[in-house]
Amino acid sequence: MDDEAVIATNDDASECKRGAVLLGYWQDNYIPYFIKHNQRRAPEINRGYYARVKGVEKIIHKFLSKAGSNAQIINLGSGFDTLYWRLKDQEIKLCNFVEIDFPAVTSRKCYLIKRNKQLLQRIHEKDQEVKLSPTDLHAGPYHCIGADLRNISELESKLYQAEVNFSYPTLFIAECVLVYIENDCVNRLLSWIATKFPKCLFIVYEMCNMNDTFANVMLENMRVRGCNLAGISSCKNLESQQARFQCNNWLGSKAWDMVSVYYSLPNSERQRIEKLEFLDEQELLIQLFQHYCVCLGWTTPEFADCDFE
Ligand code: SAM
Repeated sequence: MDDEAVIATNDDASECKRGAVLLGYWQDNYIPYFIKHNQRRAPEINRGYYARVKGVEKIIHKFLSKAGSNAQIINLGSGFDTLYWRLKDQEIKLCNFVEIDFPAVTSRKCYLIKRNKQLLQRIHEKDQEVKLSPTDLHAGPYHCIGADLRNISELESKLYQAEVNFSYPTLFIAECVLVYIENDCVNRLLSWIATKFPKCLFIVYEMCNMNDTFANVMLENMRVRGCNLAGISSCKNLESQQARFQCNNWLGSKAWDMVSVYYSLPNSERQRIEKLEFLDEQELLIQLFQHYCVCLGWTTPEFADCDFE
């Protein structure tokens, strides 16, 4: 598997987010510190990122309202995601927040955090020291750690270093990550999480419905860029996304395509962002939304109603 090309997908996602933020799709004061380049993307791509960011945020807030003060978030394949800083701006306090990615990505993230006062200030907690190694950073509840998600024993020992409490309510996030990992490794990861975390919710954002011509064009574009989509076979449809959790000992799971997620967002917000850029072909946006989904898995009935309904 070509890890270099997978690692490069983080730059692409960060550039897309930065571009959409600059156009006013949503507010993120921190993404410009992580990525300097800005490529203008097509309006349907920007709307796709908007739906993804806001859809995931909606579930995060539902989880936090149920989880209480012991809540933990573990972002798998987090790339340059800025969620910790955005939650901090909303004065949301978490017991623990862990970001995991390949060491090649976390070393760059740690370096950028160290170099930017605005990023560092937000993670620095009174009376807590910031512990830094070339690939890992620990600062109070915030942890950025380098590990390969295919290696469970490495992941487990890194989570211990990050002082994760396995019995606390925990939200896992994997946005466009599992598709790059071989199915047997994803199954091992999901099954390990289900046994270790009795109170947990998992959000997957990923491709789905990958059996038509539109999907073939999307996949070809990604393969041209050198990406091995090792886990693509589990993206067949919403049922296969849900089944992946059920086959790996999760209590329940549910999936929605991005058409449903987009229309679950507040009308006024949708109207606002639809005025930002002219979109010639509405049909293209709907097609794109039909090929991405959010799937939730839970290990406790407490989180079964964190959804888009
Ligand atoms: N989740 C971020 C977001 O939504 O902006 C980044 C998405 S990017 C498309 C995929 C990320 O998954 C990359 O940062 C990549 O390095 C990470 N990733 C993929 N496979 C991984 C693995 N086996 N271990 C750790 N990270 C991995």
